[in-house]
Amino acid sequence: MRLGAVRVTTAGQRGGGAGTRSRVNGQMELGGDLVSRSSSLPRSPAAPLPVLDQRARGTQFIELSVRSVLNTPASTHMGFWSINPYVGCEFGCTYCYARDTHRWVVERQGSGAAGQRGSSSQGESTATKQTAPLPSRPAALPPWEAFEKEILVKSDVAEVLARTLIPARLAGQSLVIGTATDPYQPAERRFRLTRRILEVLRGYHGLTIEIITKSPLVTRDIDLLQALSQRNEVSINISLATADPRLARRLELRSPVPAARLRALRRLTAGGIDAGLIIAPIIPGITDDWTGLARLMEAAKEAGARYVIGSALRLGPAARRRFLPVLEREFPELYERYRRHYATSDLASRSYQDALARRLNALRQAFGFAGDEASSRRKRRMEESARSGHAAPQSDEQAVLI
Ligand code: SF4
Repeated sequence: MRLGAVRVTTAGQRGGGAGTRSRVNGQMELGGDLVSRSSSLPRSPAAPLPVLDQRARGTQFIELSVRSVLNTPASTHMGFWSINPYVGCEFGCTYCYARDTHRWVVERQGSGAAGQRGSSSQGESTATKQTAPLPSRPAALPPWEAFEKEILVKSDVAEVLARTLIPARLAGQSLVIGTATDPYQPAERRFRLTRRILEVLRGYHGLTIEIITKSPLVTRDIDLLQALSQRNEVSINISLATADPRLARRLELRSPVPAARLRALRRLTAGGIDAGLIIAPIIPGITDDWTGLARLMEAAKEAGARYVIGSALRLGPAARRRFLPVLEREFPELYERYRRHYATSDLASRSYQDALARRLNALRQAFGFAGDEASSRRKRRMEESARSGHAAPQSDEQAVLI
């Protein structure tokens, strides 16, 4: 995949206003491969959602007009507000829990419930303007693959945010950008929705804004982040599961390499932005060893991170269908334990998570990340949210794996 090499040539109605701007006819050139576009789409209620762009390898970018964009803490069961400009993600991490969110949104589009508020329980509750199916393909994709290849683009996200954001309703809680998909995924180069969200937020003060991303593209917006930081509390969470590039590639098909993410972290902190490392997910038996976590802490320290937080893998139904076959192929010795454990729960056991928290705390102490109390408190809230929903704790002795 060539990030940043997308060049679009169109022969249609570019610049025709928010409602028509993206519905263009023409051709898209991807590193020399020309891809024919579909012709203008009819505007009947039953028409499929419009395709804004597509890649040679089959990824489609599909426009989703929204009526609301802010997910409340009550709707997502997380301790903060959130907003996601995209649904689906080309990075294609095999463990990604947001696959369930994509499936939920797609099913609502097809079922006629899209115009009503609801909750995916995975971080997405916004209502859309229209009830329309996704464009049909010669062969329907399974949900795990649709997540990577049918990217829903909330093209009016910034306008809706500007209309609906009432700072008092946030009541001092964080607004997190990118809880259900990466806000700086490859689509952001083309659609710039995350940047437009930041431009809207620049008009406010006193907000607590966080971003979660795996992508160095976040550094494109350093100017905006610096401006935002002058009037708001802003922090950027760079997500990295392992510092080992070969291991990362076995788990994440198209994500930026670890070194690029650490460089981005360095650029952010050098630019005066509050930023830290989020080790997520920590994958039992694969990325949870002391040495690997210590390597990440050390790299974070070198990059000037203010904090390091982490949370264990959770696997919803759609994520299980994607991740377990990969696990069976790549880590067959772990497969049976995972299959048994995650058959009855989306989450790692409470005892595992407690043991992991102790390990992370010890490493934070060792690498000097324990001092910043204000930052740590805020980050712990995110860790707590990731751990919520457990049954009663099991034995504290069960410190290893699931
Ligand atoms: S980058 Fe984040 S949202 Fe995208 S596939 Fe990976 S885990 Fe999922």
